[in-house]
Amino acid sequence: MKNINFSFTNKNAVVTGGASGIGFEITRSFLTAGGNVSIWDYSEQALNNAKTELAPYANQIHLQQIDVTNRESVAKAAAALPWAVDILVNNAGITRDKSFAKMGAEDWDAVISTNLTGLFNVTKTLLEKFNASSTHKRIINISSVVGLYGNFGQTNYAAAKAGVIGMTKTWGKELGRKGFTSNAIAPGFIMTAMTKAMPKEVLEGMASKVPVVRLGETEDIANAVLFLASEQASYINGTVLSVDGGIVL
Ligand code: NDP
Repeated sequence: MKNINFSFTNKNAVVTGGASGIGFEITRSFLTAGGNVSIWDYSEQALNNAKTELAPYANQIHLQQIDVTNRESVAKAAAALPWAVDILVNNAGITRDKSFAKMGAEDWDAVISTNLTGLFNVTKTLLEKFNASSTHKRIINISSVVGLYGNFGQTNYAAAKAGVIGMTKTWGKELGRKGFTSNAIAPGFIMTAMTKAMPKEVLEGMASKVPVVRLGETEDIANAVLFLASEQASYINGTVLSVDGGIVL
């Protein structure tokens, strides 16, 4: 699949969870479009792999091991940023799926602290690290169709992702006059390394339930992120863009 053709030369992005899965594709897309990316990720292994794979862009990347749930860790990463921020993509997220009857408080706490409080921690800390003179400041939050419609076994995840939508809209109202737009993307089922390892029949069965009869690729999300981050999207604020092949229609 081709990447959308925007230029991000001289633009600086922070992508949380940017070393693997969807976040890695977002990172790679900004880099190929000429931007600089600070990759904020928990996983040392994923950061090392990203460094190797993104070697051709070595002078455009800045790697930072970070835990978005830990405010000290976030503050340290923000202090180490080599440039002012133009674009923040809040992408880091986890799942701890169980039916509500079986879901423990630790499953709730882990998902809420990463997928909801993590966005508060990162965005709050980075607000003053944005390029003050820019009129194209961007916050893009990765939510989920589950945040819009709920899902069996995902009380914690659905609550966090719905909360992300509330934050996105509030920031759209509060920060618009300060040169920001704030938008969310709600991906459907997206193929990552983990899901690609599932049996072919299972994947085909899932694809058959999607109106466009395929599962999403990480590029589908990265393309939507690049569009919302572009200057051309400057009048889109506080919206939730579903990128799901129409699965919830
Ligand atoms: P991955 O698990 O592939 O990547 C997420 C990355 O974030 C990992 O490197 C992970 O590290 C990192 N991370 C996890 N917790 C933290 C933390 N506390 N601080 C910093 N980094 C952290 O996930 P996906 O690419 O599948 O998902 C990316 C986003 O897209 C998530 O917000 C997810 O909820 C959302 N999404 C995904 C869908 C899908 O089908 N894949 C569908 C809808 C939404 P580690 O590996 O160590 O945990």
